[in-house]
Amino acid sequence: MNAAGNASVPQVDKEGSWWVRLGPKLFLSYMVVVVVGASVVHFGALWLAPHAFAQHIRAMQEAVHQAMTGGQISVDLQANLYAGYRHAVDTALLLALGGAVLAAVAVSLFVTFKISRPLRAMVRATEYIAEGHYEERVPVFGSPEHPDELTELAVHFNRMAGHLAHSEERRRELIGDVAHELRTPLTTIKGYIEGLVDGVLPPERETYLLICQETNRMSRLIDDLQELSRVEAGAYELHPRPLSVQALVETAIRRLEPQFREKGVAVRADLPERLPQVQVDRDRMLQVLTNLLGNALHYTPSGGSVMVKAYRRGSEIAIAVRDTGEGIPAEHLPHIFQRFYRVDKSRSRTGGGTGIGLTIAKHLVEAHGGRIWAESPGKGQGSTFTFTLPVSS
Ligand code: ADP
Repeated sequence: MNAAGNASVPQVDKEGSWWVRLGPKLFLSYMVVVVVGASVVHFGALWLAPHAFAQHIRAMQEAVHQAMTGGQISVDLQANLYAGYRHAVDTALLLALGGAVLAAVAVSLFVTFKISRPLRAMVRATEYIAEGHYEERVPVFGSPEHPDELTELAVHFNRMAGHLAHSEERRRELIGDVAHELRTPLTTIKGYIEGLVDGVLPPERETYLLICQETNRMSRLIDDLQELSRVEAGAYELHPRPLSVQALVETAIRRLEPQFREKGVAVRADLPERLPQVQVDRDRMLQVLTNLLGNALHYTPSGGSVMVKAYRRGSEIAIAVRDTGEGIPAEHLPHIFQRFYRVDKSRSRTGGGTGIGLTIAKHLVEAHGGRIWAESPGKGQGSTFTFTLPVSS
């Protein structure tokens, strides 16, 4: 994950307040319709009741008058009361229905606008991104402090777009870097072969050895690239288990001891008696240690020495590989964990370095929750590479 890709994107990792979520908002909109309907029934009944009563009282008065004058009562009072009641209720319900429908139309227009506007923006953005415009972002409607689901969706969408843009940028960079890295040995091989064809170079063992060296370099580069892409994509499994630091360091030293002896560089470990175990994947940690020891050997002239130290730093164990080799000038220190970075490019190339080893080591250490860094007092004064690992609980 990369921080640069997120720089302009507000982060929403907290749960928003419940009252700003979509559920309560939709519930509120239904309540508006219910309240409008109920209010219309209430006020409709208040308005209609006096008319109904007045009409019924008039009918009663007429009936009483007809009874007193000995005439025939022409009004069915019960039917009149029932008809008046039904008319009042029907009218009130009809008004309520009209009011509720109007309220529902108004509320649903408002809610649909509120929901569909960000959704439409997101649909447009996804279409753009699908076409390869990774710089596209959606506007974040609503407050990131009190996000509802749509605000969260927009923020996370923008974060995803940021990651996509970053990976696309890295992909482009990688293709450029690889093309550049492959061009160098290929140009050399081409030069030798053209020299052989033109008769400028003698068809001798030395010439073929030089070509062989360059092809070896290319195949090393391809192996390293394959490993780097696996590590960068996280396409490997870690099997962390409690391991002794002593055993790790001693195994790594044992593996490279013949090369150290051959070059005349002393290597030894200085480890405290009682160090807690670390929680790591054994093979991956040996890969990191072997890489650091290999570099120390490579950049230390014969007669020099390499020392591996380990010590506790709070809840971590730090392992440091110190050499008395050529050192690293201060201006290069911040860059040496970058892919293909070499302090002395031409020398490193002839020496066969791909500039990928430290990048892989950094990924592996960070995948274990640790950190890795380099220190050097300057050119010719040796360097120290230190990485930390979590103590096994
Ligand atoms: P490489 O295959 O070129 O050694 P790395 O990624 O392992 O690639 O190292 C990157 C660069 O860091 C090297 O090219 C070298 O310039 C510098 N470097 C690494 N380790 C050491 C060291 N122990 N002493 C001096 N320079 C080093």
